[in-house]
Amino acid sequence: MTATGSLLYLDGVSVSFDGFKALNNLSFLIGRNEMRAIIGPNGAGKTTMMDVITGKTRPDTGTLLFGEKLDLTRHDEAEIAGFGIGRKFQKPTVFESHTVEDNIALALKAPRGPFATLFHRREREESARIDALLELVRLDSRRDDLAGDLSHGQKQWLEIGMLLAQDPQLLLIDEPAAGMTDAETAATADLLRDISKSHSVVVVEHDMTFVRALDVKVTVLHEGSVLAEGSLDHVSSDQKVIDVYLGR
Ligand code: ADP
Repeated sequence: MTATGSLLYLDGVSVSFDGFKALNNLSFLIGRNEMRAIIGPNGAGKTTMMDVITGKTRPDTGTLLFGEKLDLTRHDEAEIAGFGIGRKFQKPTVFESHTVEDNIALALKAPRGPFATLFHRREREESARIDALLELVRLDSRRDDLAGDLSHGQKQWLEIGMLLAQDPQLLLIDEPAAGMTDAETAATADLLRDISKSHSVVVVEHDMTFVRALDVKVTVLHEGSVLAEGSLDHVSSDQKVIDVYLGR
């Protein structure tokens, strides 16, 4: 495996906690403008993988490259966020007592890490950007409502819009469909497909209906390594994957 053409490249990444290998020689790559679904049973290492990519946890060994060349293991969390890696945790965190529009406007103004160029967007430019983001995350008609009045699913979309306001190249999203209605789940798959036209996206997800709707390559983690990779149909017919999910 080489890093050529990748936006994110992990090779032989291992992390131990008190001698227990949470990640064990983990290797995979994400292409530019690729969306990838990561699945795997509880304890497979999905959260630790996200922690390692974002600099929250440092790997014991292995290579972690962003944009083919940038060695992420030499940088801390704030620097990595500044390079353009945005992470969304499972629970939505929005400013509930501000309007939807103000949430996006605040995210646009937030500093983007130590390497970001600080500049003031002109007002007209900023309002066009807010309009585009609200439309992208399906919240144009809710712009003047308080974020606290949105449904759970809409809060997730708003937070994705706030992340996009920070101009990331790679979005890491943890279980976006958890707690959503069927209609919201389907709309979220459409939304992420739109976003992946211009960003790389890694989605950790348990909901297989949602993974099917994403219609992307799936990486199955187990015991800190890649167990299988391919379409959802391909991995779900793999006997190793079936055994792991059935606990054999
Ligand atoms: P997943 O997100 O796939 O459920 P995790 O990455 O959370 O898996 O965990 C992988 C394994 O590493 C689990 O067995 C978990 O108990 C262990 N682990 C994760 N973080 C820590 C930690 N800080 N200290 C000790 N063990 C941990």
